[in-house]
Amino acid sequence: MARILVTGGAGFIGSHLVEFLLQQGHEVLCLDNYFTGSKENLMHLRDHPRLEIIRHDVVNPIMLEVDQIFHLACPASPVHYQYNPVKTIKTNVLGTLHMLGLAKRVKARILLASTSEIYGDPLEHPQQEKYWGNVNCLGPRSCYDEGKRVAETLMMDYHRQNRVDIRIARIFNTYGPRMALNDGRVVSNFIVQALSGQEITIYGKGQQTRSFCYVSDLVEGLVRLMNCEGQTEPVNLGNPEEFTIMELARKVLALTGSTTSLVYKPLPPDDPVRRRPDITRAKERLGWQPTVPLETGLKATIPYFAEKLKG
Ligand code: NAD
Ligand code: UDP
Repeated sequence: MARILVTGGAGFIGSHLVEFLLQQGHEVLCLDNYFTGSKENLMHLRDHPRLEIIRHDVVNPIMLEVDQIFHLACPASPVHYQYNPVKTIKTNVLGTLHMLGLAKRVKARILLASTSEIYGDPLEHPQQEKYWGNVNCLGPRSCYDEGKRVAETLMMDYHRQNRVDIRIARIFNTYGPRMALNDGRVVSNFIVQALSGQEITIYGKGQQTRSFCYVSDLVEGLVRLMNCEGQTEPVNLGNPEEFTIMELARKVLALTGSTTSLVYKPLPPDDPVRRRPDITRAKERLGWQPTVPLETGLKATIPYFAEKLKG
């Protein structure tokens, strides 16, 4: 049994990770400022004897004693990370700095939840870890993209300079139950719109692609990466099955049985045209690959949103 800190543990991925770690028998400390996460995500675990939940903002330092740190705290939806971009940068830079300082002091292993966004609007396809990316440092996505890039740099520098034991997970689009109704990302938007009879908002022509990973697969990958010895290089975690946004809309309509129509909205600036992970490294080094196809994952996610919409 280990003492494990999960920052952003009241969020979508974080709450599934907390639950998984408790099931494995660990003691879990969860830190969250509830910006995009919610107490509701952890409500079913609130009396768990091995879980401690602390309201804390990672832009401030904190003294704790732990063996491992999963550092997930950061808004992940473009709508939320662009709401207060300066805060997003602070969260990524100061937050990661503080967690690395903590890891250094207590000799904990630390995993950063990085992102496929560090590849920007990629000129190489599919994206391999060795690709340096194509990021606009001036655009509205850069508070997140560049924030995560600096976070990765901090991880590497603490590793080289202070021998901190690091892991970097480059997470690709992940979905599932416990995404917030107002999350703003494509899977939750489409399901909520389909279920409530609103028009499905297609940004651009819907020909841009993404590769969608179900949350249970992602959590398994995060834990395998954390526990893999010597894996300090970044590892892509995502589902390599690629879909256009239009294909996703059609699937959601078919699975919800909704007859609502599509409405076209402007494509947000710097929206990546194509995205698909090359997961060779994760397969070889972690023995990991996703097992949940998009349709199965959507079928597991739709009832969650149906329940949430009932209020
Ligand atoms: P989320 O918004 O549901 O979760 C983020 C959590 O971090 C929330 O609970 C939020 O309240 C908390 N948080 C934000 N700023 C904080 C701060 N300053 N101090 C303390 N807590 C703070 O998003 P998610 O999808 O669960 O993403 C979790 C992590 O995974 C993020 O770091 C995100 O960048 C990364 N990621 C997610 C995806 C994805 O598709 N879901 C893809 C790539 C990377
Ligand atoms: N998107 C869309 N309609 C929506 C929300 C998103 O067409 O209601 C598109 C968006 O432009 C992008 C893709 O879906 O091309 C994925 O967007 P999301 O915000 O989920 O994640 P990210 O752009 O960070 O991959």
